[in-house]
Amino acid sequence: MPMFDIPKEIDEKKDINDFMRKIQEETKPEKCILCGKEQTSFCNSHSVPKMVLKNIAKAGKLYHANKLIEIPVIDKEKGISNSGTFHFICRDCDSKLFQEYENVDALQEIPTEKMLAEIALKDILLMLSKRNQEKRIYQKGKQKGILQNVEVMEEIQQLDNKDYMDELNLYKDVLYKNSCNNFKIIMWKKIPCVVPIATQTLVALPKDTEGIEINNIYDMRPEVRMQNIHTGVFPMNDYSIVYAFYHRRDRLYRRLHHQMNCMSLEKKLELINYWIFKYTENYYISPEIQIVIDKDDKLKELSRENNGMPNLGYVTTMDFLFHKDEIKPSEVTNLLREMYAVKK
Ligand SMILES: [Zn+2]
Repeated sequence: MPMFDIPKEIDEKKDINDFMRKIQEETKPEKCILCGKEQTSFCNSHSVPKMVLKNIAKAGKLYHANKLIEIPVIDKEKGISNSGTFHFICRDCDSKLFQEYENVDALQEIPTEKMLAEIALKDILLMLSKRNQEKRIYQKGKQKGILQNVEVMEEIQQLDNKDYMDELNLYKDVLYKNSCNNFKIIMWKKIPCVVPIATQTLVALPKDTEGIEINNIYDMRPEVRMQNIHTGVFPMNDYSIVYAFYHRRDRLYRRLHHQMNCMSLEKKLELINYWIFKYTENYYISPEIQIVIDKDDKLKELSRENNGMPNLGYVTTMDFLFHKDEIKPSEVTNLLREMYAVKK
């Protein structure tokens, strides 16, 4: 269920794009969140590196999550420069901070501690930027009287922001102090084909492969911290990197880590493919596989489960009321299989 109805007065695509542009403009922080320097213009930072997105774009275009979610007035397709971007840090920080992992050679090796910290830091920046924008949208919705339960949403937001800031400092510390042994890598795998999907995101998984709880995503007590896993898929020039890792302090993932150690590569990829569609929206798909995704109704259904409450898998009251059988990882198209690779 969408979190709120699209306001009647913004029923055209152009209007909603203008609305979002305005939101973006109004929510730019005064200072760069990383270096603290005052900024008038912010970098158009890519959450999934540009060098990754270009490998699956067709005529410079990519499908966004809305290709599957299908909210009528929101774009399904966008250019690379508008895909998964955020405006939250200064150009200087953007150009310096992600160099180690945004590197074709480095990605093919076992990742360094610094690379993992860079990835994790960027995941958090994207979340903070999104939450900041959502906060503004709630405020506007409240003013116009089109949003209900704004207080609840704002409370969730505040808790999120506090946790995200705490995590931001954790990863900054790894980068600036060069500390080691911070992360646990569940997988970092080079696969020999160019998969048609790119993503880089964090997820607070609610349960492991045996259905045992990892995060209780309904527990809103301030003392409860959601623990995140970082996962990503990077299609490169003639191979792809698929990864999942977590910070050592997030011990709730230890059981899942063990479960995945005992899984075949195929099953691991199936699971990561499932997480992407079920719990995230920061993924980009090559238009080349349009036919495959167009006919997979279960994949669309899975993508919509998260619609309106991105990234954390919260469920709305309507979802409780109309609860259907849960879609399983094996029931949706696994875009990480070689048969769906982008032909080069
Ligand atoms: Zn900066």
